[in-house]
Amino acid sequence: MSDTFDELKRLLARVADLDAAAAVLEWDQETYMPGGAATARAHQIATLRTLSHEYFTSDDVGTLLDKLEPETSGLDATSTEASLIRVAQRDFDRARKLPSTLVTEMAVAVSHAKNAWREARETNTYAIFAPYLARLIDLNVQKAEALGYAEQRYDALLDEYEPGMTTSTIETVFEALRERLVPIVQAIAAHPAPEDGFLYASYDTQKQWDFGMAVLRDLGYDFDRGRQDLSAHPFTTSFSIHDVRLTTRVAEHFFPTSLFGTIHEAGHGLYEQGIDPSLDRTPLADGTSLGMHESQSRLWENMVGRSRPFWQHYYAKLQQLFPDSLADVSLDTFYRGINKVAPSLIRVEADEVTYNLHIMLRFELEKDMIEGRVSIEDLPDLWNTRMEQYLGLRPDTNADGVLQDIHWSLGALGYFPTYALGNLMSAQLFDQARQDLPNLEDQIAAGQFDSLLHWLRTHIHHHGRKIEALDLLKQVTNEELSAEPWLAYIREKYSGIYASL
Ligand code: ZN
Repeated sequence: MSDTFDELKRLLARVADLDAAAAVLEWDQETYMPGGAATARAHQIATLRTLSHEYFTSDDVGTLLDKLEPETSGLDATSTEASLIRVAQRDFDRARKLPSTLVTEMAVAVSHAKNAWREARETNTYAIFAPYLARLIDLNVQKAEALGYAEQRYDALLDEYEPGMTTSTIETVFEALRERLVPIVQAIAAHPAPEDGFLYASYDTQKQWDFGMAVLRDLGYDFDRGRQDLSAHPFTTSFSIHDVRLTTRVAEHFFPTSLFGTIHEAGHGLYEQGIDPSLDRTPLADGTSLGMHESQSRLWENMVGRSRPFWQHYYAKLQQLFPDSLADVSLDTFYRGINKVAPSLIRVEADEVTYNLHIMLRFELEKDMIEGRVSIEDLPDLWNTRMEQYLGLRPDTNADGVLQDIHWSLGALGYFPTYALGNLMSAQLFDQARQDLPNLEDQIAAGQFDSLLHWLRTHIHHHGRKIEALDLLKQVTNEELSAEPWLAYIREKYSGIYASL
Protein backbone atom coordinates (compact mmCIF):
# COMPACT_ATOMS: atom_id res chain seq x y z
CA MET A 1 0.00 0.00 0.00
CA SER A 2 0.88 3.68 0.02
CA ASP A 3 3.59 5.59 1.88
CA THR A 4 0.78 7.11 3.94
CA PHE A 5 -0.14 3.64 5.20
CA ASP A 6 3.48 2.85 6.05
CA GLU A 7 3.71 6.13 7.94
CA LEU A 8 0.57 5.26 9.92
CA LYS A 9 2.00 1.83 10.74
CA ARG A 10 5.23 3.45 11.92
CA LEU A 11 3.36 5.78 14.30
CA LEU A 12 1.12 2.98 15.58
CA ALA A 13 4.17 0.75 16.19
CA ARG A 14 5.63 3.48 18.38
CA VAL A 15 2.38 3.61 20.38
CA ALA A 16 2.40 -0.20 20.69
CA ASP A 17 6.02 -0.15 21.94
CA LEU A 18 5.24 2.44 24.62
CA ASP A 19 2.19 0.48 25.79
CA ALA A 20 4.18 -2.76 25.84
CA ALA A 21 6.93 -1.10 27.90
CA ALA A 22 4.31 0.15 30.37
CA ALA A 23 2.85 -3.37 30.51
CA VAL A 24 6.28 -4.83 31.37
CA LEU A 25 6.49 -2.41 34.29
CA GLU A 26 2.96 -3.32 35.40
CA TRP A 27 3.77 -7.04 35.19
CA ASP A 28 6.91 -6.49 37.27
CA GLN A 29 4.85 -4.52 39.80
CA GLU A 30 2.63 -7.57 40.37
CA THR A 31 5.40 -10.18 40.41
CA TYR A 32 8.90 -9.11 41.50
CA MET A 33 8.95 -5.38 42.32
CA PRO A 34 9.95 -4.56 45.92
CA GLY A 35 7.18 -2.73 47.78
CA GLY A 36 9.31 0.39 48.27
CA ALA A 37 9.32 1.04 44.53
CA ALA A 38 5.56 1.64 44.37
CA THR A 39 5.61 5.45 44.01
CA ALA A 40 8.51 5.55 41.55
CA ARG A 41 6.84 2.84 39.50
CA ALA A 42 3.50 4.67 39.41
CA HIS A 43 5.29 7.71 37.89
CA GLN A 44 7.14 5.60 35.32
CA ILE A 45 3.97 3.87 34.17
CA ALA A 46 2.00 7.13 34.05
CA THR A 47 4.75 8.77 31.92
CA LEU A 48 4.75 5.96 29.38
CA ARG A 49 0.95 5.75 29.22
CA THR A 50 0.68 9.53 28.77
CA LEU A 51 3.26 9.53 25.97
CA SER A 52 1.46 6.68 24.25
CA HIS A 53 -1.87 8.51 24.53
CA GLU A 54 -0.36 11.75 23.19
CA TYR A 55 1.23 10.03 20.20
CA PHE A 56 -1.91 8.09 19.41
CA THR A 57 -4.34 11.01 19.65
CA SER A 58 -2.03 13.43 17.80
CA ASP A 59 -3.15 15.37 14.75
CA ASP A 60 -0.49 13.43 12.79
CA VAL A 61 -2.42 10.19 13.28
CA GLY A 62 -5.72 11.95 12.54
CA THR A 63 -4.41 13.41 9.28
CA LEU A 64 -3.04 10.03 8.13
CA LEU A 65 -6.35 8.31 8.91
CA ASP A 66 -8.26 11.01 6.97
CA LYS A 67 -5.99 10.54 3.97
CA LEU A 68 -6.30 6.77 4.07
CA GLU A 69 -10.09 6.62 4.42
CA PRO A 70 -10.80 6.89 0.65
CA GLU A 71 -8.15 4.25 -0.08
CA THR A 72 -9.97 1.61 2.00
CA SER A 73 -13.07 1.51 -0.23
CA GLY A 74 -11.26 -0.66 -2.78
CA LEU A 75 -9.96 -3.08 -0.18
CA ASP A 76 -11.32 -6.37 1.11
CA ALA A 77 -12.74 -5.48 4.55
CA THR A 78 -10.93 -8.42 6.16
CA SER A 79 -7.54 -7.51 4.71
CA THR A 80 -4.90 -6.44 7.21
CA GLU A 81 -4.73 -2.95 5.69
CA ALA A 82 -8.49 -2.27 5.81
CA SER A 83 -8.80 -3.81 9.29
CA LEU A 84 -5.89 -1.83 10.63
CA ILE A 85 -7.29 1.46 9.38
CA ARG A 86 -10.81 0.64 10.63
CA VAL A 87 -9.67 -0.41 14.13
CA ALA A 88 -7.20 2.47 14.47
CA GLN A 89 -9.94 4.91 13.43
CA ARG A 90 -12.33 3.41 15.97
CA ASP A 91 -9.80 3.67 18.81
CA PHE A 92 -8.78 7.14 17.67
CA ASP A 93 -12.37 8.42 17.62
CA ARG A 94 -13.06 7.05 21.09
CA ALA A 95 -9.87 8.54 22.50
CA ARG A 96 -10.45 11.95 20.91
CA LYS A 97 -14.07 12.19 22.00
CA LEU A 98 -13.06 12.12 25.66
CA PRO A 99 -12.06 15.59 26.90
CA SER A 100 -8.64 15.45 28.59
CA THR A 101 -10.15 17.09 31.70
CA LEU A 102 -12.54 14.15 32.02
CA VAL A 103 -9.69 11.63 31.60
CA THR A 104 -7.71 13.37 34.35
CA GLU A 105 -10.73 13.65 36.66
CA MET A 106 -11.42 9.95 36.18
CA ALA A 107 -7.81 8.98 37.00
CA VAL A 108 -7.87 11.09 40.18
CA ALA A 109 -11.30 9.76 41.20
CA VAL A 110 -10.14 6.16 40.68
CA SER A 111 -7.02 6.54 42.81
CA HIS A 112 -9.14 7.89 45.70
CA ALA A 113 -11.94 5.39 45.16
CA LYS A 114 -9.59 2.41 45.24
CA ASN A 115 -8.33 3.38 48.69
CA ALA A 116 -11.84 4.10 49.93
CA TRP A 117 -13.06 0.76 48.59
CA ARG A 118 -10.26 -1.14 50.39
CA GLU A 119 -11.04 0.59 53.66
CA ALA A 120 -14.79 0.12 53.21
CA ARG A 121 -14.34 -3.57 52.51
CA GLU A 122 -11.95 -4.14 55.41
CA THR A 123 -14.20 -2.33 57.88
CA ASN A 124 -17.43 -3.49 56.25
CA THR A 125 -18.62 0.12 55.99
CA TYR A 126 -20.41 0.84 52.72
CA ALA A 127 -20.80 4.54 53.65
CA ILE A 128 -17.02 5.02 53.22
CA PHE A 129 -17.18 3.92 49.59
CA ALA A 130 -20.59 5.35 48.63
CA PRO A 131 -19.56 8.98 47.84
CA TYR A 132 -16.64 7.79 45.70
CA LEU A 133 -18.87 5.38 43.84
CA ALA A 134 -21.36 8.20 43.24
CA ARG A 135 -18.55 10.32 41.79
CA LEU A 136 -17.38 7.49 39.49
CA ILE A 137 -20.92 6.89 38.28
CA ASP A 138 -21.24 10.58 37.50
CA LEU A 139 -17.95 10.57 35.57
CA ASN A 140 -19.00 7.43 33.68
CA VAL A 141 -22.25 9.13 32.72
CA GLN A 142 -20.22 12.06 31.38
CA LYS A 143 -17.98 9.61 29.56
CA ALA A 144 -20.93 7.86 27.94
CA GLU A 145 -22.43 11.20 26.88
CA ALA A 146 -19.09 12.29 25.39
CA LEU A 147 -18.69 9.01 23.48
CA GLY A 148 -22.27 8.92 22.27
CA TYR A 149 -24.60 5.92 21.81
CA ALA A 150 -27.53 4.84 19.69
CA GLU A 151 -29.97 3.44 22.27
CA GLN A 152 -28.81 3.30 25.87
CA ARG A 153 -26.12 5.15 27.75
CA TYR A 154 -24.65 1.84 28.91
CA ASP A 155 -23.92 0.95 25.24
CA ALA A 156 -21.15 3.54 25.15
CA LEU A 157 -19.40 1.99 28.17
CA LEU A 158 -19.89 -1.60 27.05
CA ASP A 159 -18.38 -0.75 23.68
CA GLU A 160 -14.96 -0.25 25.25
CA TYR A 161 -14.73 -3.90 26.32
CA GLU A 162 -17.06 -5.60 23.85
CA PRO A 163 -16.98 -3.69 20.54
CA GLY A 164 -20.15 -4.07 18.50
CA MET A 165 -22.24 -5.45 21.38
CA THR A 166 -25.37 -3.64 22.55
CA THR A 167 -27.03 -3.57 25.94
CA SER A 168 -30.32 -4.79 24.49
CA THR A 169 -28.65 -7.88 22.96
CA ILE A 170 -27.20 -8.77 26.34
CA GLU A 171 -30.53 -8.12 28.06
CA THR A 172 -32.31 -10.52 25.74
CA VAL A 173 -29.71 -13.26 26.06
CA PHE A 174 -29.32 -12.89 29.83
CA GLU A 175 -33.06 -12.97 30.39
CA ALA A 176 -33.36 -16.29 28.57
CA LEU A 177 -30.38 -17.55 30.54
CA ARG A 178 -31.70 -16.51 33.95
CA GLU A 179 -35.12 -18.03 33.37
CA ARG A 180 -33.62 -21.47 32.74
CA LEU A 181 -30.65 -21.28 35.03
CA VAL A 182 -32.34 -20.41 38.34
CA PRO A 183 -34.41 -23.67 38.31
CA ILE A 184 -31.29 -25.70 37.40
CA VAL A 185 -29.43 -24.25 40.37
CA GLN A 186 -32.43 -25.00 42.61
CA ALA A 187 -32.62 -28.58 41.34
CA ILE A 188 -28.92 -29.09 42.00
CA ALA A 189 -29.25 -27.65 45.50
CA ALA A 190 -31.96 -30.24 46.24
CA HIS A 191 -29.50 -33.10 45.56
CA PRO A 192 -26.85 -34.27 48.02
CA ALA A 193 -23.54 -32.50 47.36
CA PRO A 194 -20.63 -34.59 46.10
CA GLU A 195 -17.74 -35.20 48.45
CA ASP A 196 -14.89 -32.70 48.00
CA GLY A 197 -13.11 -32.66 51.37
CA PHE A 198 -10.01 -34.23 49.76
CA LEU A 199 -9.46 -31.03 47.75
CA TYR A 200 -8.65 -29.28 51.05
CA ALA A 201 -5.98 -31.80 52.10
CA SER A 202 -2.29 -30.89 51.95
CA TYR A 203 -0.77 -30.53 48.46
CA ASP A 204 2.94 -29.71 48.32
CA THR A 205 3.15 -26.31 46.60
CA GLN A 206 6.30 -27.09 44.57
CA LYS A 207 4.71 -30.26 43.21
CA GLN A 208 1.56 -28.31 42.33
CA TRP A 209 3.68 -25.76 40.47
CA ASP A 210 5.57 -28.47 38.55
CA PHE A 211 2.35 -30.25 37.64
CA GLY A 212 0.84 -26.98 36.36
CA MET A 213 3.93 -26.27 34.26
CA ALA A 214 3.75 -29.76 32.72
CA VAL A 215 0.07 -29.27 31.87
CA LEU A 216 0.86 -25.88 30.28
CA ARG A 217 3.43 -27.57 28.02
CA ASP A 218 0.96 -30.29 27.09
CA LEU A 219 -1.73 -27.73 26.20
CA GLY A 220 0.66 -26.11 23.73
CA TYR A 221 1.63 -22.96 25.60
CA ASP A 222 4.97 -21.86 24.10
CA PHE A 223 7.60 -21.21 26.80
CA ASP A 224 9.93 -19.83 24.17
CA ARG A 225 7.46 -16.94 23.87
CA GLY A 226 6.22 -16.72 27.43
CA ARG A 227 6.64 -17.70 31.04
CA GLN A 228 4.63 -18.26 34.20
CA ASP A 229 5.25 -16.53 37.54
CA LEU A 230 3.47 -16.12 40.86
CA SER A 231 1.23 -13.17 41.77
CA ALA A 232 -1.50 -12.43 44.31
CA HIS A 233 -4.19 -12.32 41.61
CA PRO A 234 -3.62 -14.43 38.49
CA PHE A 235 -3.52 -12.57 35.17
CA THR A 236 -2.20 -12.75 31.61
CA THR A 237 -0.39 -9.92 29.92
CA SER A 238 1.20 -9.58 26.53
CA PHE A 239 4.15 -7.40 25.48
CA SER A 240 4.19 -8.83 21.97
CA ILE A 241 2.82 -11.88 20.19
CA HIS A 242 6.28 -13.27 21.01
CA ASP A 243 6.15 -12.51 24.73
CA VAL A 244 2.96 -13.48 26.55
CA ARG A 245 3.18 -13.83 30.35
CA LEU A 246 0.96 -15.79 32.73
CA THR A 247 0.74 -15.68 36.51
CA THR A 248 -0.84 -18.07 38.96
CA ARG A 249 -1.09 -18.55 42.71
CA VAL A 250 -0.71 -21.74 44.70
CA ALA A 251 -2.70 -22.72 47.81
CA GLU A 252 -1.33 -25.64 49.80
CA HIS A 253 -4.76 -26.52 51.21
CA PHE A 254 -7.00 -26.08 48.19
CA PHE A 255 -5.85 -27.92 45.10
CA PRO A 256 -8.14 -26.29 42.45
CA THR A 257 -6.79 -22.72 42.97
CA SER A 258 -3.51 -23.23 41.21
CA LEU A 259 -4.20 -25.77 38.47
CA PHE A 260 -7.51 -24.36 37.24
CA GLY A 261 -6.15 -20.81 37.56
CA THR A 262 -3.19 -21.87 35.43
CA ILE A 263 -5.38 -23.52 32.79
CA HIS A 264 -7.67 -20.45 32.74
CA GLU A 265 -4.78 -18.06 32.16
CA ALA A 266 -3.32 -20.49 29.61
CA GLY A 267 -6.52 -20.03 27.61
CA HIS A 268 -5.89 -16.28 27.54
CA GLY A 269 -2.21 -16.82 26.78
CA LEU A 270 -2.80 -19.28 23.94
CA TYR A 271 -5.11 -16.71 22.34
CA GLU A 272 -2.41 -14.02 22.46
CA GLN A 273 0.33 -16.38 21.27
CA GLY A 274 -1.88 -17.53 18.41
CA ILE A 275 -2.42 -14.12 16.80
CA ASP A 276 -0.98 -13.78 13.29
CA PRO A 277 2.66 -12.64 13.90
CA SER A 278 2.41 -10.14 11.04
CA LEU A 279 0.00 -8.12 13.21
CA ASP A 280 2.60 -7.54 15.94
CA ARG A 281 3.15 -3.87 16.94
CA THR A 282 -0.25 -2.90 15.51
CA PRO A 283 -3.60 -2.28 17.27
CA LEU A 284 -4.81 -5.57 15.73
CA ALA A 285 -2.46 -7.62 17.93
CA ASP A 286 -4.99 -8.25 20.70
CA GLY A 287 -8.07 -10.32 21.42
CA THR A 288 -11.13 -9.03 19.59
CA SER A 289 -13.12 -8.45 22.80
CA LEU A 290 -12.98 -9.31 26.49
CA GLY A 291 -15.88 -11.71 26.02
CA MET A 292 -14.07 -13.59 23.26
CA HIS A 293 -10.93 -13.62 25.39
CA GLU A 294 -12.87 -15.07 28.30
CA SER A 295 -14.42 -17.67 25.99
CA GLN A 296 -10.91 -19.03 25.42
CA SER A 297 -9.97 -19.15 29.10
CA ARG A 298 -13.29 -20.73 30.09
CA LEU A 299 -13.19 -23.26 27.26
CA TRP A 300 -9.81 -24.58 28.43
CA GLU A 301 -10.55 -24.29 32.14
CA ASN A 302 -14.04 -25.80 32.23
CA MET A 303 -14.78 -27.68 29.03
CA VAL A 304 -11.33 -29.23 28.84
CA GLY A 305 -9.76 -28.97 32.32
CA ARG A 306 -12.82 -29.95 34.35
CA SER A 307 -13.93 -32.67 31.94
CA ARG A 308 -13.85 -36.39 32.60
CA PRO A 309 -11.66 -37.19 29.56
CA PHE A 310 -9.01 -34.73 30.77
CA TRP A 311 -8.77 -36.53 34.10
CA GLN A 312 -8.85 -39.94 32.50
CA HIS A 313 -5.45 -38.90 31.20
CA TYR A 314 -4.06 -36.99 34.19
CA TYR A 315 -5.58 -38.51 37.29
CA ALA A 316 -3.15 -41.43 37.75
CA LYS A 317 -0.25 -38.98 37.48
CA LEU A 318 -1.85 -36.70 40.06
CA GLN A 319 -2.42 -39.60 42.44
CA GLN A 320 1.25 -40.56 42.13
CA LEU A 321 2.28 -36.99 42.99
CA PHE A 322 -0.04 -36.70 45.98
CA PRO A 323 -0.54 -40.25 47.33
CA ASP A 324 -1.28 -39.07 50.89
CA SER A 325 -4.21 -36.93 49.72
CA LEU A 326 -5.54 -38.89 46.75
CA ALA A 327 -4.60 -42.57 47.01
CA ASP A 328 -8.06 -43.48 48.32
CA VAL A 329 -9.99 -41.09 46.07
CA SER A 330 -11.37 -42.64 42.88
CA LEU A 331 -11.32 -40.86 39.53
CA ASP A 332 -15.09 -40.58 39.69
CA THR A 333 -15.05 -39.03 43.16
CA PHE A 334 -12.32 -36.61 42.09
CA TYR A 335 -14.23 -35.59 38.95
CA ARG A 336 -17.42 -34.93 40.93
CA GLY A 337 -15.49 -33.07 43.62
CA ILE A 338 -13.87 -30.58 41.23
CA ASN A 339 -17.30 -29.95 39.69
CA LYS A 340 -19.24 -29.47 42.89
CA VAL A 341 -21.94 -26.80 42.58
CA ALA A 342 -22.67 -24.72 45.66
CA PRO A 343 -24.39 -21.33 45.56
CA SER A 344 -22.06 -18.92 47.33
CA LEU A 345 -21.84 -15.22 48.06
CA ILE A 346 -18.49 -14.56 46.42
CA ARG A 347 -18.16 -14.34 42.64
CA VAL A 348 -14.51 -15.35 42.36
CA GLU A 349 -15.21 -18.55 44.30
CA ALA A 350 -18.30 -19.46 42.28
CA ASP A 351 -18.58 -22.74 40.38
CA GLU A 352 -19.26 -22.68 36.64
CA VAL A 353 -23.04 -23.21 37.04
CA THR A 354 -23.78 -20.34 39.44
CA TYR A 355 -21.12 -17.95 38.11
CA ASN A 356 -23.32 -16.35 35.47
CA LEU A 357 -25.93 -15.42 38.07
CA HIS A 358 -23.33 -13.36 39.92
CA ILE A 359 -22.60 -11.55 36.66
CA MET A 360 -26.23 -10.88 35.75
CA LEU A 361 -26.84 -9.28 39.12
CA ARG A 362 -23.89 -6.91 38.61
CA PHE A 363 -24.88 -6.11 35.03
CA GLU A 364 -28.42 -5.18 36.07
CA LEU A 365 -27.29 -2.99 38.95
CA GLU A 366 -24.56 -1.11 37.10
CA LYS A 367 -26.87 -0.48 34.15
CA ASP A 368 -29.47 0.95 36.53
CA MET A 369 -26.85 3.16 38.19
CA ILE A 370 -25.70 4.54 34.84
CA GLU A 371 -29.28 5.20 33.76
CA GLY A 372 -29.99 6.90 37.11
CA ARG A 373 -32.68 4.37 38.03
CA VAL A 374 -31.24 3.48 41.45
CA SER A 375 -29.70 5.58 44.16
CA ILE A 376 -26.25 4.74 45.44
CA GLU A 377 -27.67 4.60 48.97
CA ASP A 378 -30.07 1.78 48.10
CA LEU A 379 -27.46 -0.32 46.37
CA PRO A 380 -26.55 -2.71 49.22
CA ASP A 381 -30.21 -3.61 49.77
CA LEU A 382 -30.86 -4.10 46.08
CA TRP A 383 -27.79 -6.31 45.88
CA ASN A 384 -28.86 -8.46 48.82
CA THR A 385 -32.44 -8.85 47.63
CA ARG A 386 -31.36 -9.92 44.16
CA MET A 387 -28.75 -12.29 45.57
CA GLU A 388 -31.54 -14.02 47.47
CA GLN A 389 -33.70 -14.18 44.37
CA TYR A 390 -30.99 -15.66 42.14
CA LEU A 391 -28.91 -17.77 44.49
CA GLY A 392 -31.06 -18.20 47.57
CA LEU A 393 -28.47 -16.54 49.82
CA ARG A 394 -28.45 -13.22 51.60
CA PRO A 395 -25.08 -11.71 52.57
CA ASP A 396 -24.66 -10.87 56.27
CA THR A 397 -22.14 -8.16 55.49
CA ASN A 398 -21.56 -5.68 52.67
CA ALA A 399 -17.98 -6.95 52.46
CA ASP A 400 -19.46 -10.27 51.27
CA GLY A 401 -22.01 -8.37 49.15
CA VAL A 402 -21.82 -5.14 47.27
CA LEU A 403 -18.21 -4.38 48.33
CA GLN A 404 -16.60 -7.64 47.18
CA ASP A 405 -15.32 -6.68 43.70
CA ILE A 406 -12.67 -4.14 42.77
CA HIS A 407 -14.16 -3.25 39.33
CA TRP A 408 -16.45 -0.36 40.29
CA SER A 409 -13.68 1.27 42.32
CA LEU A 410 -11.60 1.27 39.13
CA GLY A 411 -14.38 3.09 37.32
CA ALA A 412 -14.77 0.04 35.08
CA LEU A 413 -18.48 -0.10 34.27
CA GLY A 414 -19.51 -2.24 31.31
CA TYR A 415 -16.86 -4.85 32.10
CA PHE A 416 -18.80 -7.42 34.14
CA PRO A 417 -21.08 -8.78 31.39
CA THR A 418 -18.05 -9.86 29.35
CA TYR A 419 -17.40 -12.67 31.86
CA ALA A 420 -20.79 -14.24 31.20
CA LEU A 421 -20.59 -13.57 27.46
CA GLY A 422 -17.32 -15.51 27.52
CA ASN A 423 -19.02 -18.48 29.17
CA LEU A 424 -21.82 -18.50 26.61
CA MET A 425 -19.47 -18.14 23.64
CA SER A 426 -17.18 -20.87 24.96
CA ALA A 427 -20.04 -23.39 24.73
CA GLN A 428 -20.98 -22.27 21.21
CA LEU A 429 -17.38 -22.56 20.05
CA PHE A 430 -16.75 -25.89 21.80
CA ASP A 431 -19.88 -27.37 20.18
CA GLN A 432 -18.54 -26.37 16.79
CA ALA A 433 -15.07 -27.73 17.60
CA ARG A 434 -16.64 -31.08 18.57
CA GLN A 435 -18.50 -31.20 15.28
CA ASP A 436 -15.38 -30.38 13.29
CA LEU A 437 -13.15 -32.72 15.33
CA PRO A 438 -15.30 -35.83 15.86
CA ASN A 439 -12.82 -37.68 18.09
CA LEU A 440 -11.96 -34.67 20.23
CA GLU A 441 -12.91 -36.38 23.50
CA ASP A 442 -10.63 -39.35 22.72
CA GLN A 443 -7.81 -36.96 21.97
CA ILE A 444 -8.31 -35.13 25.27
CA ALA A 445 -8.44 -38.49 27.08
CA ALA A 446 -5.07 -39.27 25.45
CA GLY A 447 -3.61 -35.93 26.57
CA GLN A 448 -3.51 -34.62 23.01
CA PHE A 449 -4.60 -31.03 22.58
CA ASP A 450 -2.89 -30.03 19.36
CA SER A 451 -5.85 -30.42 17.03
CA LEU A 452 -8.14 -28.40 19.36
CA LEU A 453 -5.47 -25.71 19.65
CA HIS A 454 -4.97 -25.69 15.89
CA TRP A 455 -8.74 -25.36 15.40
CA LEU A 456 -8.89 -22.39 17.80
CA ARG A 457 -5.81 -20.81 16.21
CA THR A 458 -7.25 -21.05 12.73
CA HIS A 459 -10.79 -19.91 13.55
CA ILE A 460 -10.28 -17.44 16.40
CA HIS A 461 -6.75 -16.56 17.48
CA HIS A 462 -5.16 -15.86 14.11
CA HIS A 463 -7.47 -12.92 13.34
CA GLY A 464 -6.59 -10.76 16.33
CA ARG A 465 -8.93 -7.75 16.25
CA LYS A 466 -9.66 -8.00 12.52
CA ILE A 467 -13.19 -9.34 13.06
CA GLU A 468 -15.56 -8.19 15.83
CA ALA A 469 -16.60 -10.85 18.35
CA LEU A 470 -20.23 -11.34 17.25
CA ASP A 471 -19.23 -11.51 13.58
CA LEU A 472 -16.47 -13.96 14.37
CA LEU A 473 -18.85 -16.12 16.40
CA LYS A 474 -21.28 -16.14 13.49
CA GLN A 475 -18.52 -16.91 10.99
CA VAL A 476 -17.27 -19.88 13.02
CA THR A 477 -20.53 -21.37 14.34
CA ASN A 478 -23.09 -20.03 11.89
CA GLU A 479 -25.10 -18.95 14.97
CA GLU A 480 -25.91 -15.71 16.75
CA LEU A 481 -24.96 -15.28 20.38
CA SER A 482 -27.19 -17.60 22.41
CA ALA A 483 -27.50 -19.02 25.92
CA GLU A 484 -28.91 -22.35 24.65
CA PRO A 485 -25.65 -24.20 23.91
CA TRP A 486 -24.23 -23.28 27.31
CA LEU A 487 -27.44 -24.38 29.05
CA ALA A 488 -27.38 -27.65 27.13
CA TYR A 489 -23.75 -28.21 28.12
CA ILE A 490 -24.57 -27.54 31.79
CA ARG A 491 -27.62 -29.84 31.74
CA GLU A 492 -25.69 -32.68 30.12
CA LYS A 493 -22.60 -32.41 32.29
CA TYR A 494 -24.39 -31.90 35.61
CA SER A 495 -27.04 -34.55 34.98
CA GLY A 496 -24.08 -36.92 35.05
CA ILE A 497 -23.01 -35.57 38.43
CA TYR A 498 -26.32 -34.78 40.13
CA ALA A 499 -28.82 -37.13 38.40
CA SER A 500 -31.42 -35.78 36.02
CA LEU A 501 -31.95 -32.02 35.90
ZN1 ZN B 1 -10.15 -14.61 32.42
